[in-house]
Amino acid sequence: MSASEPGRNGSSSSARNGTSNGLSGGARNGSGPSGGALPRTARYSAFSLFKHGLRASEWPRAWRTHPIRDSYDVVIIGGGVHGLATAYYLAANHGITNVAVLDKGYLGGGGSGRNTAILRSNYLTPEGVAFYDRSLELYRNLATELNFNVMFSRKGHLTLAHNDSSLRTMHWRAEVNKLQGVDSSVIDPGEIKKLVPYLDTSADTRYPILGALYHPPGGIIRHDAVNWGYARAADALGVHLHQQTEVVAIETAKGEVTGVRTAGGRRIATGTVLNATAGWSSLISDMAGVRMPVQTSPLQAAVTEPVRPFLNAVVVSGTLHVYVSQTDRGELVFGASVDPFTSYSMRGSLDFIEGLAGHVLELMPGLSRMRLLRQWAGLCDMTPDYSPIMGRTPGNGFYEDVGWGTYGFKAGPVAGETMAETIATGQPAALITSFGLDRFERGELVGEKGAAAVGH
Ligand SMILES: Cc1cc2nc3c(=O)[nH]c(=O)nc-3n(C[C@H](O)[C@H](O)[C@H](O)COP(=O)(O)OP(=O)(O)OC[C@H]3O[C@@H](n4cnc5c(N)ncnc54)[C@H](O)[C@@H]3O)c2cc1C
Repeated sequence: MSASEPGRNGSSSSARNGTSNGLSGGARNGSGPSGGALPRTARYSAFSLFKHGLRASEWPRAWRTHPIRDSYDVVIIGGGVHGLATAYYLAANHGITNVAVLDKGYLGGGGSGRNTAILRSNYLTPEGVAFYDRSLELYRNLATELNFNVMFSRKGHLTLAHNDSSLRTMHWRAEVNKLQGVDSSVIDPGEIKKLVPYLDTSADTRYPILGALYHPPGGIIRHDAVNWGYARAADALGVHLHQQTEVVAIETAKGEVTGVRTAGGRRIATGTVLNATAGWSSLISDMAGVRMPVQTSPLQAAVTEPVRPFLNAVVVSGTLHVYVSQTDRGELVFGASVDPFTSYSMRGSLDFIEGLAGHVLELMPGLSRMRLLRQWAGLCDMTPDYSPIMGRTPGNGFYEDVGWGTYGFKAGPVAGETMAETIATGQPAALITSFGLDRFERGELVGEKGAAAVGH
């Protein structure tokens, strides 16, 4: 790709060289590691599998550990999909590689390793649809781009309507989606039954199914593989990944970020900090003196024993507060809405499992003899309008990529791409201009509750 062409992400070539915000970059000129350029790491391919098998040689570690530097151009707090993707696109698209990702636990230990991995772009607002659709586009090519099998399975996504008002919302969403070129339509119970024969579509249930929003491009992915793929690719481009490194303070002078302090008592100088800590994000924002309209609630999920594949689509019921999909290994993955209280606890509860099982059986009575293997919880950073908060805050050098609630995994690639552009250029990327913190002052909320209330 020549420098005068628009980038594959539609950003300008000057943005992709990443120098207009005073950050050093430009070395890679945005070519990205696609097509075989992952330096300092093994390429995964049938040929290297054969070679390693023949020589019985060890595979190199997917990413390395480094001593922490005294200073970085960019410090990203949070090693989930958002932090890792931003680090990767800073390096790949803008040549900014003096970047550290700090995580108090392990990479993917937050929501990014606990989610139910549902991807879709059938949102309700034009801003939301355009944003999540770009993410799906990036996801479609991610395995090739990162040279890592992320197991994206485009099964299709069904959101059931059990009453007239949700059917009306489905029609509304379908029209918004179609206008923006996103494949969504409302289908009737007969068509639903053909797609998912195990669903009870009879009229004499407690919550009869009146129709559904059908979104064929939606599906599920392997969340760990996405996290690890981004980590490996970012590491290969020179980003430092520091696990077990908790940030306890953000230092500022005259309104500018100057550094962070870690629990180990270490100071890291930097002029740019990104908060990508999801469920913990208001704690980090407080350190920078930025108040966020974010509340943290737990979200639980559960998985069954594996069975033969029978569920051909992701099925969501907002009325019953439940959703179900089947992984490539055959397990059924169940989720619901956030717990109805704020907490930083990541424990599952019996109350959740009882409610979930009852609702799943209302949808698919045939599952009554399946056994649950385990349940778990993660933290969700909820905003009042169910849209994220992204961009630079009034504190200079402090950026937010938070408010991901129950729906942020699907946004990982586009959030990384747009935050990298925003940091590199100092200007909000076009796709995130509606998601700034100042929308709450202006009263210009981006209301996505109708498309994002149930945890997916
Ligand atoms: C059960 C469940 C199901 C979900 N299902 C879906 C779904 O199907 N589809 C979807 O799109 N989304 C889903 N989500 C939401 C999604 O998981 C999150 O929105 C997304 O993973 C957030 O990613 P992140 O990178 O911003 O944050 P996280 O992955 O949560 O990472 C934040 C990181 O910050 C680190 N951290 C926190 N404080 C500090 C500190 N002081 N110093 C250093 N590091 C710190 C944490 O250790 C953590 O690793 C689900 C969430 C849950 C819990």
